[in-house]
Amino acid sequence: MQVTPSNVHIEAVKGGITQQADVQAIVNAANAELTTGGGVAGAIHHAAGTELYKECQQFAPIRPGEAVITSGYKLPNEYVIHCLGPVYERRKNYEELLEKCYINALQLAEEKNIKSIAFPAISTGVFGYPMEAAAEVAVKTILKQIPQLKHVEKIKFVLFTQADLEIYQNKLEELQ
Ligand code: ADP
Repeated sequence: MQVTPSNVHIEAVKGGITQQADVQAIVNAANAELTTGGGVAGAIHHAAGTELYKECQQFAPIRPGEAVITSGYKLPNEYVIHCLGPVYERRKNYEELLEKCYINALQLAEEKNIKSIAFPAISTGVFGYPMEAAAEVAVKTILKQIPQLKHVEKIKFVLFTQADLEIYQNKLEELQ
């Protein structure tokens, strides 16, 4: 599915975040210590190699809503932007913190003149954020940032399952 409001191209695809060779940066659904773990972070660290872990350590720990940027090492992407999503309902402002992840990731991308970026569904795995609600925050927040983007031209949402992809596709259609 592809949507193009203004000159920024947005798409939702089914796949793995480490298999997105057509984007300059991928986003990691990181843990506070920026270590490997499972899910997205596990896949990214596994594919990037131990150099990524070493670079990450100077930034750890990060707080919910924060984002930091590193090289991509063995990944097909130049950069990894690591975001710590909120654990669903553990903090009162979980929605705002999830928003901040997307805003801060895009801001780092802009600072590095990044043209294309892929996001996984941050917080929807072990952090327990329901997919539908998380998709709404992700899509709304990204659409709101579009007028301010000067460098980013392509934004991809990468979903692991067909059901998750359909949730994102519906949100993109609904919120345009
Ligand atoms: P969090 O800790 O932020 O909840 P997870 O990594 O546990 O992050 O999961 C976030 C989402 O990413 C979940 O919807 C999960 O199904 C999905 N996911 C897991 N592995 C991958 C992967 N390799 N590529 C893309 N999405 C993935």
